[in-house]
Amino acid sequence: MWTLVLNSGSSSLKFAVIDPASGETRLSGLAERLGAEAASMRIDSGGARQTHALNGGSYAEAMRLVLAELDALGMRQDVRAVGHRVVHGGSRFSAPAPLTPEVLEAIRECVALAPLHNPANIAGIEAAMTAFPGLPQVAVFDTAFHQTLPEVAYRYAVPEAWYTQHGVRRYGFHGISHSFVAGEAARVLGRPLAELNLITAHLGNGSSVTAVSGGRSVDSSMGLTPLEGLVMGTRSGNVDPGLHDYLARVSGLTLTQITAALNRESGLLALSGLTNDMRELEEAAARGHDGARLAVEIFVYRLAQGIAAMAVALGRVDGLVFTGGIGENSATVRAATLARLPFLGFRLDEAANVAAVRGQGGPIGASDSLPALVVNTNEEWMIARETAEVLKLGGQDAVRGTQ
Ligand code: ADP
Repeated sequence: MWTLVLNSGSSSLKFAVIDPASGETRLSGLAERLGAEAASMRIDSGGARQTHALNGGSYAEAMRLVLAELDALGMRQDVRAVGHRVVHGGSRFSAPAPLTPEVLEAIRECVALAPLHNPANIAGIEAAMTAFPGLPQVAVFDTAFHQTLPEVAYRYAVPEAWYTQHGVRRYGFHGISHSFVAGEAARVLGRPLAELNLITAHLGNGSSVTAVSGGRSVDSSMGLTPLEGLVMGTRSGNVDPGLHDYLARVSGLTLTQITAALNRESGLLALSGLTNDMRELEEAAARGHDGARLAVEIFVYRLAQGIAAMAVALGRVDGLVFTGGIGENSATVRAATLARLPFLGFRLDEAANVAAVRGQGGPIGASDSLPALVVNTNEEWMIARETAEVLKLGGQDAVRGTQ
């Protein structure tokens, strides 16, 4: 059985046709600038790449191209399900859910919690339902893995009514990636996941760390929204909650403008005054660019703090996993991070660390170190797996009855 995996962003659509059992990808692609004149779609199949102009087209046009490509490959009948990445499932979803009208409505109810992400996810779901009316569709949530957080980790110290009436609590994100790499790390370590206390660091444009105990998330650095926690590409991560009021008073910026700046004009981009791209920052820092050096230093400092905080959640740490574009490729960030964590028992194997780049994962800790490893994430495969699994199970337990 092949599964079509869809990841829709505000103006993009990523897709892949994957065998859930093996992870083999038959077809994949990315549509960008959807809705704009310059909209285009890249399709990779059998080692060949084509690019199509979409001429202002949106999700529906992108989906039609996916369908045409499946027909050209004679594969339309082989695709048995569609798995959608959905960013925010609130407290409602602790597992993937088959997309019934009720589930779609519940995802709509979570729009207030993720105004940038959930509407795009819904648009992708609706386009896929039109394009593939006969296929079961499943929502796989970025927040679901973290629904196992204990109350001590998910509650904020704020008035209770904010929590009970408005859902103000910590949710955590990147759950698809954190759960995938925790499973892979257990395989690499040759130990059952159920026995392991792992810290997973997903470091990409968005970054978060998670404490995974026995395969269950027990704390994570992102909170109510994906803005909390680590320094990211263009997101600030943690700031003083008093910042909004202060800035509004002294600068006249509105709450919306401040929030937009914290999401899109902060993080590595703001600190460096150069770029949000870690690879470019490392190159600039090596050339002596002060802003780039400071941005990387603060990124690492806050990451190490985040990892140490996850150690508190776990009590005992059995391993640290790096993943995401930065985690999988930046030997510099990994080395600098472990250098700040000797008290947790981490010591770097420099040669192994330098070798673990461009898809080459594996252990990077010295022989006397607590295990530290690089694991390549594969969120598309995880979505395909969860989609297949929930359909086999019937998915009846996936939706919690109450908020
Ligand atoms: P997203 O969160 O958008 O999926 P990715 O996981 O692809 O992003 O991560 C993107 C980040 O990974 C960028 O900051 C990029 O510079 C960084 N990255 C990719 N390759 C390297 C590299 N060789 N060295 C340092 N950083 C890298």
